[in-house]
Amino acid sequence: MTDRLFSFEFSAPKSEDAIAKVKKVHARLAALSPHFFSVTYGAGGSTKDGTRQMVMDLAGTGSTVAPHLSFGGDDPGVIQALLESYREAGIRRLVALRGDRPSGIGGALQMTHANELVSFIRDTTGDHFHIDVAAYPEMHPESSSFESEIAYFKQKIDAGANSAITQYFYNSDAYFHFVNACAKAGINVPIVPGIMPITNYQGIVRFSSLCGAEIPRWIEKHLVSYQDDPESLRNFGDEVVTRLCEQLLAGGAPGLHFYTLNQAAPTLRIWNNLGL
Ligand code: FAD
Repeated sequence: MTDRLFSFEFSAPKSEDAIAKVKKVHARLAALSPHFFSVTYGAGGSTKDGTRQMVMDLAGTGSTVAPHLSFGGDDPGVIQALLESYREAGIRRLVALRGDRPSGIGGALQMTHANELVSFIRDTTGDHFHIDVAAYPEMHPESSSFESEIAYFKQKIDAGANSAITQYFYNSDAYFHFVNACAKAGINVPIVPGIMPITNYQGIVRFSSLCGAEIPRWIEKHLVSYQDDPESLRNFGDEVVTRLCEQLLAGGAPGLHFYTLNQAAPTLRIWNNLGL
């Protein structure tokens, strides 16, 4: 294992079958000795108990686990109790987010920006937790300008975040441009690129348009042509994502955070290709 920061993200499972599957995937990926695993927090706090239980289960195996957290629709007392339960369980790391809006509630829910959550965590639990926040090299869909993106990102770091994980992207220039702009703005924390394996055409196109990740035209054209040929799509996706990871690491990225999609195989294939 190198001193680079490698981590793996799971989506909070919502059924007994899905929980059992994540545990199996975790066992395979734990063999790679990542820096930590993280577990998402459903939109609006919808997986609060599921996230907590998954975090506790994985931490019980000896892995370092970082729960994702947002205020969602909850009042501060609920979040403070959750933080206390994590602290008591020996959890030392969190990913602090504004979170996405739950579908169906739409604009009715007042979303609290992540900088306020970071401040709240520092106010209530001091330096106990290492806090990661989200970063958007291709800009968050709601951002009005690149300058405001950097300024709001800096607010989260100034509030006490220790490092960041990016939204996924398929263009390494976007990452390096963002990191350079952060350095110029006096932001010096590690910014770890988020890596999304390509496993499915429809899924990646739908999700990318929601979260503002661009799929370059040449990649999309290939994916379209491989829609009915899963093996070619998988080989092409692995090649593109492996090359992206190589460029990122060669260019000085501090590590890689894999969005595992709760599957071991795509991440393992890229990991092996990279010779890690
Ligand atoms: P913020 O940092 O609050 O930013 C949101 C938008 O508001 C940006 O456009 C920003 O420029 C702007 N902004 C920021 N601060 C202010 C301010 N003080 N005033 C005005 N505007 C401001 N979602 C989930 O629901 N659950 C998860 O587990 C989850 N995990 C994620 C993990 C990673 C690594 C990433 C990159 C994203 C994750 N998301 C998750 C998605 C994330 O919640 C959404 O992208 C959400 O829309 C923004 O969250 P944020 O923490 O970046 O918000």
